[in-house]
Amino acid sequence: MTFHIVTIFPEFFAGPFAHGVVAKAAEADLIRIAVHNLRDWTHDRHKTVDDRPFGGGEGMLLKPAPLFDAVESIWPARTPRQRVILLSAQGPLFRQTDAVRLGQYDELLFICGRYEGVDERVAEHLADEELSIGDYVLSGGELAAAVVIDAVARLMPGVLGNADSTLRESFTAEAEMLDCPQYTRPADFRGWKVPEVLLGGNHAEIERWRQATARAKTLRNRPDLLR
Ligand code: SAM
Repeated sequence: MTFHIVTIFPEFFAGPFAHGVVAKAAEADLIRIAVHNLRDWTHDRHKTVDDRPFGGGEGMLLKPAPLFDAVESIWPARTPRQRVILLSAQGPLFRQTDAVRLGQYDELLFICGRYEGVDERVAEHLADEELSIGDYVLSGGELAAAVVIDAVARLMPGVLGNADSTLRESFTAEAEMLDCPQYTRPADFRGWKVPEVLLGGNHAEIERWRQATARAKTLRNRPDLLR
């Protein structure tokens, strides 16, 4: 899987992808991350990427031309195995099922908005879809792109040491609820004891306990998932 990112802050991505499984996956060539500077597709002395909104209003918008030129030069002929995603607070919410779905493509290209947003023709005629990572407004699409790429990349074959570890995670299709509570050593920490059942080695009982506590935690923290 190749992830392309179009941004006015390419240096932003040195941090998020320098650690953990995503960094290791890139080192092992299981994934490729290509960061593109939007200003490379401007033609004026100031490398202008933004302009004022028609009709007035606060702030500036990313202009359509550099974004169209960027995507059309990265992918001169787009195939159905490639997908352009515009990060936007106005998009549908990104969920775990989207991470699985996006993992089916060969290449994903993320457009990171800035300022007051992006000329709407990018959403209408360049992006295949818009995605929001939550009901709040970020100052740019870079953090959102890093979140989506992390969630998709860790599902790629070979990226996690044990592929089964994703099967019972929160939001997986099999569970449709949060993961169960988990504990590690010591069994007694400041008087707070690990539930007895987890120490007993009875796998059927442990499984029953995990399902019950996962359901209880989902009811408590995310009842919407059970509806
Ligand atoms: N005026 C826009 C609105 O109210 O919907 C917000 C623009 S925001 C300040 C600038 C950029 O940050 C957006 O174009 C988008 O790329 C990114 N962004 C902000 N919130 C986001 C979110 N929840 N999910 C994904 N991207 C987001």
